[in-house]
Amino acid sequence: MFFKKPFVDKKKFTSINITSEPLYGLSKDIEYCKNCLMSNQRPNMCPEHFHTKEKAKSIIKFTDGICDGCLLKDKKDNEIDWEERERELKVLLNKYRSNNGSYDVLLPGSGGKDSFYVAHILKFKYGMNPLTCTFAPNIYTEWGLKNFYSWLEAGFNNYKFTVDIKVHKLITRISLENLLHPFQPWILGQKNFPTKFAKLTKIPLIFYGENPAEYGNPNDKYYDDMLMEWHACDNLDNVYIAGLPTSELSKKFKLVNSNLEPYLPLTYKEFKDNNLKCVAFSYFKKWHPQENYYYTVENSNFITSPERTAGTYSKYSSIDDKIDDLHYYTAKIKFGIGRTHYDVAQEIRSGDLTTSEGKSLINKFDGEYPKRFEKEIFDYLSLDNEQYKDIQTEFEVLKMDRDYFDNLCDSFRSPHLWRFSNKGWSLRKTIDS
Ligand SMILES: [Zn+2]
Repeated sequence: MFFKKPFVDKKKFTSINITSEPLYGLSKDIEYCKNCLMSNQRPNMCPEHFHTKEKAKSIIKFTDGICDGCLLKDKKDNEIDWEERERELKVLLNKYRSNNGSYDVLLPGSGGKDSFYVAHILKFKYGMNPLTCTFAPNIYTEWGLKNFYSWLEAGFNNYKFTVDIKVHKLITRISLENLLHPFQPWILGQKNFPTKFAKLTKIPLIFYGENPAEYGNPNDKYYDDMLMEWHACDNLDNVYIAGLPTSELSKKFKLVNSNLEPYLPLTYKEFKDNNLKCVAFSYFKKWHPQENYYYTVENSNFITSPERTAGTYSKYSSIDDKIDDLHYYTAKIKFGIGRTHYDVAQEIRSGDLTTSEGKSLINKFDGEYPKRFEKEIFDYLSLDNEQYKDIQTEFEVLKMDRDYFDNLCDSFRSPHLWRFSNKGWSLRKTIDS
């Protein structure tokens, strides 16, 4: 049996003194950015296909109490010549522009505010001919699906790749058990599908929205090219899915190459041989997520979610997949940073919130358990039906429920972040302490 119900030794968490090392290579000394409140426990975005249970994370850098995301914001406000950047954008687009109206740029996205904005502006302001492509969400929200169609209604063709749901559910469950990362299989697909699709359609220019440096990846990587390493690998034998080597995943869970293909990247050689160029729009134009939202509403029938998103205060950001709620909840467990915290940091940096407003929102909503889609998500993650009978012996518990999920979460808590007392779990160091 591969996945047993983990034993959680709560004694490690009860004393005031911390007796064991932080998990995930996180820093022992917890610090919050003086400006945007982001925590120094935040992992940087990295190639997801090298992620394993043991691998230490690279984390956001702080200088004199200020995070890299805020330092970049300062540079964007005071140093960057945005007119020059727009000239660079025009040179790039002219290099790839088709002269007969055929597709000349590939735009991956879901039809959310950011992908809508970039696709629309490239087509209607800069005269490009985008083809949009989508790696379908795990479980669409009703409003997410409507927004997807509103995107196409605004004037775009789209190719959507939808995975074998039986396999995807299994890999999602494995990723939850192994990494406490229920979103990882989708992230792998969403990162690796566009470049493979670009190779297939021979559209070498791919436009993304944000460069990860916007929210804290190292500033020296803030250039127009998205790193090839994020989208490709040297050798497919070195790739991990759900934190397991592909060979082990195939053997244990009876999966064949075609089952794993949607999650695999191109090789560096394929990436180079096809002259692929992945760029981030935020390098060329000052990126302000709230303005992207207003732009999208003005130019389409985009709708917000009818209720506040679980775990945060917002209604318009990342709202198309029901599993997203669980993804942010698990980030709070592993790194002490939940969805409100991420949203607040971004909005303080963009000038839409003050630091003290941000603190109250974090205290009110961060780490909230996402009750609203609980039943549907747990059904999705349960393997107790006939379909999975050939691999069921690898799991001690087949049915996912709140008790099993909570215990699993506790087994991923790092003692330097969390304390357990008769009042339950609490962060050792909060934004107020
Ligand atoms: Zn900051």
